[in-house]
Amino acid sequence: MLDKVLIANRGEIALRVLRACKELGIKTVAAHSTVDRDLLHVRLADESVCIGPATAQQSYLNIPAIISAAEITDAIAIHPGYGFLSENADFVEQVEKSGFIFIGPTAETVRQMGDKICARQLMKEIGVPCVPGSLEPIGTDDTATINLAREIGYPVIIKAAGGGGGRGMRVVHTESHLLNAIALTQSEAKAAFNNDAVYLEKYLQNPRHIEIQVLGDGRGKAIYLGERDCSIQRRHQKIIEESPAIGITQEERERIGMLCVKACADIKYRGVGTMEFLYEEGKFYFIEMNTRIQVEHPVTEMITGIDLIKQQLKIASDEPFTLTQKDITLRGHAIECRINAEDPRTFSPSPGQVTYFHAPGGPGVRVDSHLYSSYKVPPNYDSLVAKIITYGETREIALARMRNALDETVIEGIRTNIPLHQDILRGNAFQKGIINIHCLEKWLNM
Ligand code: ADP
Repeated sequence: MLDKVLIANRGEIALRVLRACKELGIKTVAAHSTVDRDLLHVRLADESVCIGPATAQQSYLNIPAIISAAEITDAIAIHPGYGFLSENADFVEQVEKSGFIFIGPTAETVRQMGDKICARQLMKEIGVPCVPGSLEPIGTDDTATINLAREIGYPVIIKAAGGGGGRGMRVVHTESHLLNAIALTQSEAKAAFNNDAVYLEKYLQNPRHIEIQVLGDGRGKAIYLGERDCSIQRRHQKIIEESPAIGITQEERERIGMLCVKACADIKYRGVGTMEFLYEEGKFYFIEMNTRIQVEHPVTEMITGIDLIKQQLKIASDEPFTLTQKDITLRGHAIECRINAEDPRTFSPSPGQVTYFHAPGGPGVRVDSHLYSSYKVPPNYDSLVAKIITYGETREIALARMRNALDETVIEGIRTNIPLHQDILRGNAFQKGIINIHCLEKWLNM
C-alpha cells in the first residue's frame, strides 16, 4: 500500500480522500492555499504545506508548487480529487516524471479523453454509440460546415473539444445563425481552454443524463458499477444525482455497462472513471468520459457497498485487482443533493462565515462536507459546501430520508440552495421520476 499521499485539492473531496487514506493506514499531506489553512482536512492531515495564495492559478493549479510540496514531504503519490488539475495531462506527466504516482489514469488516457473529439473517435471505433455529429474539428470550409449541420439536422449543439464544467457549448436552431455561433464558440473556447477546436452534435430535445461508473486496473481488466442519473441540472451543471436510474432495465444496464467495460479494457483504463451518456427513447449516446472521481460518486458507493476512493488508492499502489463483475450487485436506491453556498433564487455565490452548522443524521443518511461552525467559506472557489446523500431500500424511502435530512440541516451565516432542493423534492414530476436535463430550468421559469 502507498506510504504517504499528497492531497492536491480542497473542500469536501480533500476530506473524503483523507478519510479513505486514514482507513488504509496511509499518511497524508494536505497541500493548501493561504485561505484554506483552516479547512478540516488540513487540520486532520499528518502534514500540511501551503502551496500559494488564494487564487487557484497560483495554488491548486500551480504544478511546480504541488510537485515541490510532494518532494519536501516525501509523499509517494498525489491524489488530484476532481476539478483543478485532475484532468490535466501535463500535470500527470510531470507528476510521473518527478517520480511520483499519479492516482488516476495515464497521461495518455487523460489527454485522449480530455479532447472530446478524440474521445468520440475512440468510442466510435470501439463500438460505443455516440450522439450523431462530427468526428473532426470544424474546419474553414463554410459550405462543408453548413452541409454537415443539415445532415445532422437542427437544432445542433456546438461544443468545444476542450470544454468542461458545462462551459463551451452553444445551441443553434437555424442555419442563419450557424457560422456566427461557431466563430463565437471558437473564440470563447480559445480563451477558456486554450484550444479553439469545436465540433457539432445533434442537440437532443429531451434526454436524460445517465452515466456509467467504471473501474480499471490499467492492465486490461475492468468492471462497471451501475449507472447514475444526473438529469437535474442548471446550466449543464448537476444538482441532484441518483442511482439506479429510474426505468433502466437490468438488460439495458448490462448492455451499456459491458460496452463501457469493453472500452476500458481496450484502452487499459487505470482507476475510476465515468462514461457519460445522454439517454433518449431507450437509446444511450456517449458524450464524454471523465477520467477522475466524480462529485456524485457516493450514490454508487451507497448502492454497491464499494468504496471508490479506496479502490483508487489500491489500484495506484498496484495491489492485485480482485474485484470482478460478479462482486457488483446493486441494492436499494441512493440520492445526492449538492449543497452550494449560493442564493437559492438568484444563484449568486454566498461566501462568508458559517456561524452555525448542524448536519442531518439517522438511518441511511450520509453527509460529505468540510463545514463546521465558525468555518469561513472563501469566495475564491467552487460554491459546493456539502453533499447530502440518502439511501433507502426503495426510491421512496431514499426520498423521504432526503426530505428529512434537508429539513434537519442548519447552515447559518451564509445562504445555501437547500430551499431549492426542498422545492424540487416536493415536486410531483420529480417524485414520479419524470425527469430530463431541461426539467429544472423549466420548473425555475414557472
Ligand atoms: P461538460 O464536459 O461541460 O460537463 P458534457 O459534454 O458532459 O459537458 O455535457 C454537459 C451537459 O450538457 C449534459 O449533461 C447535457 O445536459 C448537455 N448536453 C451536452 N451535449 C448535449 C447534446 N448533444 N444534446 C443535448 N444536451 C447536451
